[in-house]
Amino acid sequence: MFENLSDKLQRSFKTLRGQGTITDDNIAEALREIRLALLESDVNLAVVTDLVEHIRTRALGTQVTTALSPSEQIVKIVHDELVNLLGKDTARFQKSSQPPSVILMAGLQGSGKTTTSGKLAQWLKKAGHRPMLVSVDVYRPAAREQLAIVARTISAQLYEGKLTDGEANTDSVLRLAKEAKREAASFGCDILIVDTAGRNQIDAALMDEMAALKKQLNPSEILFVADAMTGQDAVNSAKAFNDLLTITGAILTKMDGDARGGAALSIRHVTGAPIKFLGTGEKPDAFEPFHPDRIVSRIMGMGDIATLLERAEEKLDRGKAEQFAKKALSGDGFSLDDFRDQLRQIKKMGSMQSILKMLPSVGPFAGMAQAAENVDEKQFTRVESIINSMTDKERKDHEIINGNRRKRIARGSGTTVQDVNNLLRQYAQMRKMFKTIGGGGGIKAQQRMMS
Ligand code: GDP
Repeated sequence: MFENLSDKLQRSFKTLRGQGTITDDNIAEALREIRLALLESDVNLAVVTDLVEHIRTRALGTQVTTALSPSEQIVKIVHDELVNLLGKDTARFQKSSQPPSVILMAGLQGSGKTTTSGKLAQWLKKAGHRPMLVSVDVYRPAAREQLAIVARTISAQLYEGKLTDGEANTDSVLRLAKEAKREAASFGCDILIVDTAGRNQIDAALMDEMAALKKQLNPSEILFVADAMTGQDAVNSAKAFNDLLTITGAILTKMDGDARGGAALSIRHVTGAPIKFLGTGEKPDAFEPFHPDRIVSRIMGMGDIATLLERAEEKLDRGKAEQFAKKALSGDGFSLDDFRDQLRQIKKMGSMQSILKMLPSVGPFAGMAQAAENVDEKQFTRVESIINSMTDKERKDHEIINGNRRKRIARGSGTTVQDVNNLLRQYAQMRKMFKTIGGGGGIKAQQRMMS
């Protein structure tokens, strides 16, 4: 997500390094590069022109006496302007005064509407709501079946309704929607998520149907689901939907792919509606609220520690982590059982790549985000299956694992003896390192000083 743009922006800031003050001349070069970086990331031309002009005006108006160097000043200005572009605050989720609040999901076919409806339902459930899902795609039974599967996966309420043959028209769409709203109310569901029919492209019939649905359901949110990989096309269709329906927000899907990020930076400027969520994978929990400041931090190479900590808070078991730390630092050290436990905990936070990418590319973590590209996710699985192939006794006391046992473990885990050796060596090193910290100087000494 945004790696390319991030790299290019870092480079453009470098042109200003070492300069005493910001002048028309020395900023021109940096601005040219910023402009190019944005255009190459598929940001809408009008957005780029506006943004660069804002940055120029603010940069030239900046007091030279400030404590920041010119490149630091530009970094700050670009940061602020990007936050302005995306909307300062995280967008609020609107509800109607009378439940159920209706969320109308709009978008083209394949944009990820059905998947996202499920993700949104799951997210709302976690936030303490009782959502109900309904698909009003009367034209494609497969689409309704897909939503039914999604609802089952996340254990969410679903209104299936009944359709007789030949009922593939707007009237039946409206009837189904009306029944679902009534059903949601009688089931005590406070939110109804309506997955609508998508087309390959925008046509008058689709738009008429969406307008009729809006009129009937009086939704509190009309969310446009856009495939970020389609770049400017996503922005153009967002505009077309917005012109007709006045969307209340957008959800950008497939941000885990190699989308250049242009759509994310353009949608709000072009439609006036904020991005409310991002889809970052196919699984139901690959979904996050859109926080403009955090996204800008990622773009500026400052990482997104806030999201990382939130994920850790949500997914990790604090008690287990503390137990592990205590054991690891004690004289006995941690066993291979504990080690496997920790691996599983980390895996819960997502792929190693996605974790590393949230670290700042400057400062103490420099290079980690870049290293993410080379991370072999399979390595984790390999390590886990090696430990799984050990007996309980071996996991508790690694010293009994002799040559024969190593051969057996390699066979059992589909790896080589060398893989097993490597793992045991790394494990022994880690144990030693932790013990040293726990025993000699490190933490104990510090604790003594503090007590
Ligand atoms: P719809 O036609 O708009 O309802 O689209 P679907 O929900 O059927 O999604 C189309 C395809 O995109 C499916 O294969 C989904 O698994 C995939 N998809 C949806 N959202 C994401 C996402 O955020 N990341 C990735 N990688 N794939 C996604």
